[in-house]
Amino acid sequence: MLELAGASSADVREHVAAGGRLAVLAVGALEAHGPHLPLSTDTIVAERIARAVAERCDGALLPAIAYGETWATSGYPGTISLSPETVRALALDIVRGAAASGLDRVVIVNGDFGNRLPLAAAARDLAAEGLRVLVLDHPGLADAADAVRESAPAAPGMNHAEEIETSMVLASAPELVRMERAEPEYPAFPVDFGLRPVRLHEIGASAVFGDPRPATAEKGERLFAAVIDAAVAQVERFVAG
Ligand SMILES: [Zn+2]
Repeated sequence: MLELAGASSADVREHVAAGGRLAVLAVGALEAHGPHLPLSTDTIVAERIARAVAERCDGALLPAIAYGETWATSGYPGTISLSPETVRALALDIVRGAAASGLDRVVIVNGDFGNRLPLAAAARDLAAEGLRVLVLDHPGLADAADAVRESAPAAPGMNHAEEIETSMVLASAPELVRMERAEPEYPAFPVDFGLRPVRLHEIGASAVFGDPRPATAEKGERLFAAVIDAAVAQVERFVAG
């Protein structure tokens, strides 16, 4: 693995000359995750997966993007949201720059729901330019979450500041988790939730959706192991393609 933030230009030249083409970029968010988790939760989780992928696939790890498109949580203090156009433009510029350096197989490890559409749009734009991008949205997490969770999700498939996300931060940055503040919240969702844009502070006071209290670092390690294995399998196919 080559970590670009600490590498020199000569290091990159050598890495590419030795056949290295893979670059790995984590895209996170600065977003409310309840009173017990840091705003950087999504970045912490995506960065750990990106680093593991870069290590196992001998890729070049790019510095993470610590902001994302978080319109849905922008009513909670501390959330700072990028526009979709900004996320798309960041991805376009970074992938083009990596490719110009010879790193022309770029994997984006996305940690935030709001980034999905702009990153998919960027990947299509880049494909039209002949540049290959794989966007990963925590593959394998849904099944792994079902296997470890003891608490009910607030809504199907929703992991926001509850047992699953809290476990992953406990496994990665326990010093940033304040479990004494962890409280469950199961808001009443509007009947048309998912059909139209809804800002989450209008339905939940704490930005916790579910119950964080059963979270443990051990569960977090199991979740990371599953996601990283699934991600590596996809990246190996991508690089071979
Ligand atoms: Zn999150």
